[in-house]
Amino acid sequence: MHILITGGLGFLGSNLTRKLLQSPLNTITIIDDQSSGSLNNLSNLPSSDFYRIRIIKKDVCALNFGDIEAKLDIIYHLASRASPRDFLDYPLEIMYANSFGTQRVLELTRQHKSKLIFTSTSEVYGDPLIHPQDETYSGNVNLHGIRSCYDESKRFAETLIAAHTRKYNLDTVILRIFNTYGPGMKIDDGRVIPNFIISSLVDKSIKINGDGRQTRSFCYVDDLVNGMIDIAQLKNNQADVYNIGNDAEITINELAHLILTLTQSDSEIIYGEQLSDDPLLRRPILTKIRSKIKYQPQISLEEGLKRTIAYLADQMGMSHKKLLEVKI
Ligand code: UDP
Repeated sequence: MHILITGGLGFLGSNLTRKLLQSPLNTITIIDDQSSGSLNNLSNLPSSDFYRIRIIKKDVCALNFGDIEAKLDIIYHLASRASPRDFLDYPLEIMYANSFGTQRVLELTRQHKSKLIFTSTSEVYGDPLIHPQDETYSGNVNLHGIRSCYDESKRFAETLIAAHTRKYNLDTVILRIFNTYGPGMKIDDGRVIPNFIISSLVDKSIKINGDGRQTRSFCYVDDLVNGMIDIAQLKNNQADVYNIGNDAEITINELAHLILTLTQSDSEIIYGEQLSDDPLLRRPILTKIRSKIKYQPQISLEEGLKRTIAYLADQMGMSHKKLLEVKI
């Protein structure tokens, strides 16, 4: 199979690339402008695998037909910053990747008659008024809030994909990805798990936004990637939408205490302002994806956090005594 991954050097994209390369018949083209993704994310690949990857440093909005040398069987369109930290600094880049970038990807999907897997997000549900969320829920998004550059551009991309699919009879899947974590996240990613782990490792205060009673459902990246690969086996999809993630819900307070325990940290917890439009509750209903593929996350939060702690500690070059005690 020849597979295109936009954003293939990011956290999710690099984990997906690594997993896809485990099939010896796969070859991969990555389009990534390396603004947030990095070649370092693939640095530990066996050198023999590099013969099966071509990396093009390019913004997905500038993707053109000439970039692709062989017929594409599958396109994974991941390119977009996804950390709330970036919503303030890069709103236009995020909106362009999901609008112009998605248009480029759709043209390629049509030309190559390939299957398209688009990574949408649980953010399309905004601050949800129903809980947990299934795919029929239309969401509650503040159009003009800081987060809307991400939420609304992903929603637009979903609509663009549905319209192209109807008009040109394309084979497309939309995955609404819930909070995902694991090795490959950057130290300065800004999302809650790396933030809490880094603070704990250096004995800095853990800062919780709001009262910490907001919930999330965290999925270990390997479980998510396995689902992304299995879903590509489905045929004749018509902009079918699936939630994907882990449905084990936890409060941010509980998460902070768990990370403090696992890192054996003395960091204190401090509370700050609640962020505007910060969703209060988030948990996926996974019935739909389970009706199509065998999908059951295998890695518990505790196990996944241990692996993530070890990865981030390694990235920091820490020889902290505590790290030796983190059992993997
Ligand atoms: N959060 C926090 N402290 C941090 C980072 C995040 O309390 O240092 C909170 C954030 O306000 C949200 C939750 O943790 O309620 C998850 O945030 P994250 O940025 O990981 O992703 P989101 O689910 O909001 O996209």
